[in-house]
Amino acid sequence: MITWQILIKGQVQGVGFRPYIYNKAIKLNLKGYVLNSTIGVQIELNASKKNAEEFYQDLIGNLPKNAIVTYNSIEKIPFIPFKNFEIRHSSSLKLDDATLIAPETTICGDCKNELLDPKNRRYRYPFITCTNCGPRYSLIQELPYDRENTSMNTYTMCSNCSLEYLNPADKRFYSQTNSCPNCSIKLKLIDSSLKTVATDASAWIDKIAELWTAGKIVAIKGLGGFLLTCDANNENAVKSLRAKKRRPSKPFALMVANVEAIKRDFEVSDIEMKELKSSAAPIVLLKNKNVHSYSKKIAPGLTHYGIMLASTPLHILLLNKYKGPIIATSGNIHNIPIIYDNKVAEEKLFEIADYILEDDREIRVSQDDSVIKFTPIAQQKIILRRSKGLAPTYINPKINWTAQIILATGALLKSTFLVLHKQNTYISQYLGNLEGFEAQENYKKIVQHFLQLFSIQPSLILIDKHPEYFSSMFGLQLAKDYKIPTYKVQHHLAHFSAVLGENNLIETSVPVLGVIWDGMGLGDDGAIWGGEFFIYNNRNFSRAFHFEYYDYLLADKMSEEPRISALATSWDIPGANEHLQEKFSETEWKLYNKMLSSKTSIISSSVGRIFDAVASLLGLIDKQTYEGEAAMLLENLASKYFTSNHLTFKESYFIKSLYLNTVSVKDLMQGIVEDLNLELDKDFIAAKFHFSLVAIIKKVAEKQNAYKIAFSGGVFQNSLLVDLIKFHLKEYELYFHKELSPNDENISFGQLIYHHINTT
Ligand SMILES: [Zn+2]
Ligand SMILES: [Zn+2]
Repeated sequence: MITWQILIKGQVQGVGFRPYIYNKAIKLNLKGYVLNSTIGVQIELNASKKNAEEFYQDLIGNLPKNAIVTYNSIEKIPFIPFKNFEIRHSSSLKLDDATLIAPETTICGDCKNELLDPKNRRYRYPFITCTNCGPRYSLIQELPYDRENTSMNTYTMCSNCSLEYLNPADKRFYSQTNSCPNCSIKLKLIDSSLKTVATDASAWIDKIAELWTAGKIVAIKGLGGFLLTCDANNENAVKSLRAKKRRPSKPFALMVANVEAIKRDFEVSDIEMKELKSSAAPIVLLKNKNVHSYSKKIAPGLTHYGIMLASTPLHILLLNKYKGPIIATSGNIHNIPIIYDNKVAEEKLFEIADYILEDDREIRVSQDDSVIKFTPIAQQKIILRRSKGLAPTYINPKINWTAQIILATGALLKSTFLVLHKQNTYISQYLGNLEGFEAQENYKKIVQHFLQLFSIQPSLILIDKHPEYFSSMFGLQLAKDYKIPTYKVQHHLAHFSAVLGENNLIETSVPVLGVIWDGMGLGDDGAIWGGEFFIYNNRNFSRAFHFEYYDYLLADKMSEEPRISALATSWDIPGANEHLQEKFSETEWKLYNKMLSSKTSIISSSVGRIFDAVASLLGLIDKQTYEGEAAMLLENLASKYFTSNHLTFKESYFIKSLYLNTVSVKDLMQGIVEDLNLELDKDFIAAKFHFSLVAIIKKVAEKQNAYKIAFSGGVFQNSLLVDLIKFHLKEYELYFHKELSPNDENISFGQLIYHHINTT
């Protein structure tokens, strides 16, 4: 007999790994132990060489559903005389490595069956889980992942639950989230006077269904925080939710009962369905078959709706009863992060909700729902928000990182941060717009939470070059406190680095053209960049082309009001005035024109603002109520044209438009104004604008002799643009983001890659 030690690293805690190994070992009559440690999972056992090999191969070849292995090894160690096989209590030793944190996973099939089986002891128990499903990341306070290190530490298992927990044959063997109606997590429905209206399952399910029918708004605590819900078909309820949330037109997500309900009302491809049913249970954008079957107030002006399946036991119970789709949107007050604490919910959410359903299990980190879409033609996956079920672990095993502990603080509007620790990259969930105080506090809290989880302190902090981003100021302050250095990374180079890193292009020996388009980021020359073409070659970045600078008129106001972008990009174009002047008061018109002719404002190359400008010129929108509204309306309009013309298109607004190192914005806007004056169809103009962007990418690629092209920046959340690129640039190797979003959520990762490229 020989003793073997097997080490497994990766996402192996909280996914049923120990019971899985235990059962395998018992079956083969092997003696030894398995243990969760801070390195991952450690196994030691006695076996012949042949048996050990067999056990090991079988283990790695048939992993539990939610496990992800990044490292595994087996080696002989000095003989230990084991008497049986056991699951040992987690080691508190801090070894020299770290484990990945499992994200939340949707209810598994077995638990769902039990939930709906009147004979099961967990019938209608809204917190049913097992080793294969349920909350994880949101409950963890410390590692390793054991009950006493999670929010479950305040509940004591009843005798039945304890038996399951200790029975190796049971699927709740070592299930840290185990509970049942006898040792239950307490739930209550309260009204605005904080009076409890219902506690037991049949009562709260019936009551909430009643409330929805009556057009009421109910805040419901989920895995990542509270969701605000109401009947999606009730025009008045939706209207009231919009008014109270001060959210006039930003789309709401819908939660539906089952797959059939989705198929009935939405066009859904196999790949989209797979995503909806995945363990992350994200919101997926789907095209509505018949807009009129829903309140038009759900996604005003848009064809695609955000849809999610009921995927927690609680949501399943409610939707099984109610059937009809409900609106399920993050439970927050205008401009503050999602609320996840009962007390805060009771204080604040009654501004919006008529009732609150809360439970007493504490959420340690809040998370919004993740949002994903697929482009209609190429079915290219685009992550719009990486949060619940997807964050915080990001795995790219092909990069050999520095041994330093690094914190990258990300950007501003779609903030995330990243921690590099022992070869693992943890990218936080989407943490929102850091301009508000509450969002800043939440961001700080979650950074601290991460550093505490691993008991680490960074030795380097990466920040965006923009000195006024909260994330930059926070990073600088933290560096000062810790007496460690900071390293600044230009925003668009971070974007480019992120897409290079995600596609393993760091060591590429042929030039890659980076097309990096977004709303804004501070450039190296002090201008606001956002329409950039970089070349990456031999670990070197150079800025090859950029959209011609135009005045960044009125700074921040420009991003809120597309009419200002229209004016700033077209004010000196003949024939433009008749489309512009009506958008402004006389005073505004005089003042803004004066500002433009005196050339005193900041300048910008932002393509995001050019989208706004075109949307405004085409009469779609002059003031937006949420970020990206103008671009979405423009995409929608152009898509109408392409629906009847497939993706073929020939005419571009960029004819002779490449000069020295700039792309002419003037040529573009002049072409659009001319077409408007010719009274061409607006959907044609919108389509031609989209195609022109693809044409100019091709021109730049030709000029740079690049056949690899990588895309990043918020502009590439545009499905139509991505489909056109994939259709018209087939002869190129195209690289998009895969598991990360193209928007500023990827900046923290890009900062790390940029630093890696420049220092290793
Ligand atoms: Zn389960
Ligand atoms: Zn119990």
